[in-house]
Amino acid sequence: MNPALIEVKNVSKSFGGVVANHEVSLTVAEGRITGLIGPNGSGKTTLFNSIVGYHPIDAGSIKFEGKEISELNVQKIARLGMVRTFQQTRIYGKMNCVDNMRISIAHRNAAWRDMFAEYSPAIVERAEHLLEFVGLYAKRNLVAGTLSFGQQELLEFAMALMNEPKVLLLDEPTAGINPTLINGLIDRLQRANREFGITMFIVEHNMRVIMNMAEHIYCLAHGELLAEGPPEKIQNDKRVVDAYLGAH
Ligand code: ADP
Ligand code: MG
Repeated sequence: MNPALIEVKNVSKSFGGVVANHEVSLTVAEGRITGLIGPNGSGKTTLFNSIVGYHPIDAGSIKFEGKEISELNVQKIARLGMVRTFQQTRIYGKMNCVDNMRISIAHRNAAWRDMFAEYSPAIVERAEHLLEFVGLYAKRNLVAGTLSFGQQELLEFAMALMNEPKVLLLDEPTAGINPTLINGLIDRLQRANREFGITMFIVEHNMRVIMNMAEHIYCLAHGELLAEGPPEKIQNDKRVVDAYLGAH
């Protein structure tokens, strides 16, 4: 097993009376693709939000590269090399793809001198290179709002790569994407993992996708860890199957 890049220990988080996560412990191994599954409302997005510092946790510990980060804010954690994407894509529909890529850098760098980095030719070159990587080079000057859902997801993925993350947290990357583009997205995610060495932690509803991609999978139910293991073990785990059936 590779060393843990992210270590979550006994993390709890409630919203008013709603317990979204209860004493969740898991690790994301460096260089690997780790999956997080569970029925709707089981606390997956909440856990992602806690890890990236979007909101404070009630109890527990979250370490990144062995360092406690649960007290740090979103910007500080992002600067450590942790980048997340959202269940709903967050692109600028009226800007073209290259400008979206440039903006993604400016937004993640708080220092003023970095704000101007987005105008450097090197940044534009990098933006174009990554757009080529995700298969959007031909559309680079098109307004992002005209892209299909799947292409917007690819753009958001490329925007995340602009920031040279050590780890990417992807919240349902294939949601709303047609099957042809899903395969393209999976391929790009796997290549980014292999070729750029980016560790990934992926929340995914599509079982075929997550079983194919992840080496280790955690399953949440009602905010608690229900099961963990390699895909073969998880897909035959009766508790996991029951949790999904019970949710419908
Ligand atoms: P999942 O991503 O697995 O579908 P979530 O983490 O979004 O689950 O939600 C877990 C539970 O926490 C749900 O009951 C949800 O309604 C609740 N919840 C999530 N975020 C908030 C919030 N900001 N305020 C209040 N309740 C929330
Ligand atoms: Mg969610």
